[in-house]
Amino acid sequence: MNVVVLAGGVGGARFLRALTEAGRDVTAVVNVGDDLDVYGLRVCPDLDTVLYTLAGLGDDERGWGRANETWHALETLRELGADGWFALGDRDVGLQLVRTEALRRGDPLSGVTARLAAALRVSTPLLPATDDQLRTWVETPAGAFAFQEWYVRRGHRDDVDAVRFEGAETARPAPGVVEALAAADLIAIAPSNPYLSIAPILSVAGIRSALEQRRAPAVAVSPLIGGRAVKGPAARMLERLAGGTTPAHVASCYAGLVDALVIDPADADEAGAVEALGIRAVVVPTLMDEPAQRRRLAEAVLERAGAVV
Ligand code: GDP
Ligand code: CA
Repeated sequence: MNVVVLAGGVGGARFLRALTEAGRDVTAVVNVGDDLDVYGLRVCPDLDTVLYTLAGLGDDERGWGRANETWHALETLRELGADGWFALGDRDVGLQLVRTEALRRGDPLSGVTARLAAALRVSTPLLPATDDQLRTWVETPAGAFAFQEWYVRRGHRDDVDAVRFEGAETARPAPGVVEALAAADLIAIAPSNPYLSIAPILSVAGIRSALEQRRAPAVAVSPLIGGRAVKGPAARMLERLAGGTTPAHVASCYAGLVDALVIDPADADEAGAVEALGIRAVVVPTLMDEPAQRRRLAEAVLERAGAVV
């Protein structure tokens, strides 16, 4: 049974880890809207979070970057007067150098990612949503910002009125993405931020239509527990952009794209409103801090959500 997972960074990586720990064949389709060029390097934060997590190299506390990291390169560039606004650890820089060089040579991101994954002994196929340039922008009362300008430099303090994806009109799915979706036994949307991590993937027309025309059941896992995000701005964005933070508001982000939504018992009271949208609600604890929690969630997704036809 092959599960194709649409994933952002932290929520995506933790969910992918849950499925791989449960011994499943998983293919990850990962957001690239957060990618940026900084210090002359091409950085792909969500692909890297997934890669480091699945390789067992990630810093679970921080949620991004590598464990046992040091920061000499960043300190040096700040000493030299550069604007070191985007934190990259030394070990992380090594990977960014390899990727950037390969991209400059003309290799596609999908090819570079596959080589990095193989070198780090990650057997799960990691596919960027697209090899084409796709960049997330947010519109806020303070103006429009490129994603990382808003998220990192401004600490995502501005409310978001709209999100747009530069390059989406012409972006094509990366090689293997549509094929994986067509051959999937189950399609899962990770508990990632619907607006910042999943919407950019779905902004690639070929991916959205593959999902709309799916033969396999599709399930999303809510990133909210008790109406609150485990981390990050998802709840605040849902409140402003969807009008609330209940499971039905999460489900509304995926109308026509999923058959089931996995929600935490903290939100079970609201299950009926999800079902009223024609989406089955599967109630199971969704926090993934411990191996036993990850296992229970993975099994529920595979056994209970997978049964939808
Ligand atoms: P980012 O790209 O690093 O911001 O990460 P994602 O978009 O993939 O994931 C962010 C979302 O993951 C947040 O909205 C969190 O609420 C959610 N999240 C993180 N850990 C967990 C967890 O253990 N369970 C659930 N249900 N959601 C989680
Ligand atoms: Ca991200």
